[in-house]
Amino acid sequence: ISRRGFRGNFVPPIKSNGGNTGNMIGSRITGKCDDSLDDSTRRCLEILCGPDGELPEKLRNLEPRLIEHVSNEIMDKDPNVRWNDIAGLEHAKKCVTEMVIWPLLRPDIFCGCRSPGRGLLLFGPPGTGKTMIGKAIAGEAKATFFYISASSLTSKWIGEGEKLVRALFGVASCRQPAVIFVDEIDSLLSQRKSDGEHESSRRLKTQFLIEMEGFDSGNEQILIIGATNRPQELDEAARRRLTKRLYIPLPSSDARAWIIRNLLEKDGLFKLSNDDTTTICKLTEGYSGSDMKNLVKDASMGPLREALKQGIEITNLRKEDMRPVTLVDFESALSEVRPSVSLDELGIYEEWNKQFGSLS
Ligand code: ADP
Repeated sequence: ISRRGFRGNFVPPIKSNGGNTGNMIGSRITGKCDDSLDDSTRRCLEILCGPDGELPEKLRNLEPRLIEHVSNEIMDKDPNVRWNDIAGLEHAKKCVTEMVIWPLLRPDIFCGCRSPGRGLLLFGPPGTGKTMIGKAIAGEAKATFFYISASSLTSKWIGEGEKLVRALFGVASCRQPAVIFVDEIDSLLSQRKSDGEHESSRRLKTQFLIEMEGFDSGNEQILIIGATNRPQELDEAARRRLTKRLYIPLPSSDARAWIIRNLLEKDGLFKLSNDDTTTICKLTEGYSGSDMKNLVKDASMGPLREALKQGIEITNLRKEDMRPVTLVDFESALSEVRPSVSLDELGIYEEWNKQFGSLS
């Protein structure tokens, strides 16, 4: 079998270090052919090489397994969300289109005075569509989407978060235009830890800010989107870098109606009258998008549960024998699925939005 090095040159089919790829941890890529990489890592690096077959500067001296992790686990090759999948949030969609999507599609127009900010913050209660917006941006702007949860950097990648951040930004710069979505960004850029802050998390934060600063000044087409449910914990440095800050609130009544219809229609189960839909929307004041999804799931079990109660065996049950989902199903689902966000929490978001949010 002949194999190719990531510079495209022939690699003899003999592995150094006895084929023990486990020893790879800690190895460095120097831009020279490295025969001791296993095949999946090699493939991953080959894709990132420039036309000259060399690994870009930013990725040299990084551990191959971290680059591979970013390419395979953090990079989402098919974010698969479009604007039309997101209910409501018209204000956010408009801002994001102007500030992010157009500049990514037409960097030649959005330069000089029109150059866009490179950092966007989406804040608001959990389950309101922040991640969906991030994915839709990547989809609409034909950009590569990277998703990382900031808390995993501190919990799962203890002591290595810094290196992973470098690999993340390195791979993103090879995959431009790129959108890096950092979930729970407060756990990375919070003001809380400043006193007894661990040395390692301080270094991680510094590394992250350095990387952001690095592409801010250049012509890179990389956008950072931070998402948080705790905007009040972000410090001044974080706010300064995340120049546009959009409040992603709970869905309006119309948006809730849209979610119900959209989810049920996908399965051909939508038979509710307008009046019934309006009633459900009144009863779901304060529900998030993700609460609504759970509610619809629970309500759609109603007809199935009823059929089984009548003694029909699940194995003999025919889909066409099930009645449509009704208001009654929603009413009983409402006692199972409660709203996950409290009024007090909403007050905090609204205050923060008044003080720091991008209101227009
Ligand atoms: P967040 O990132 O704000 O915590 P997500 O974007 O991950 O929330 O949303 C979780 C799930 O809730 C989504 O997969 C989707 O099914 C549903 N959802 C939330 N908000 C919306 C919305 N505005 N429109 C449609 N579905 C939504």
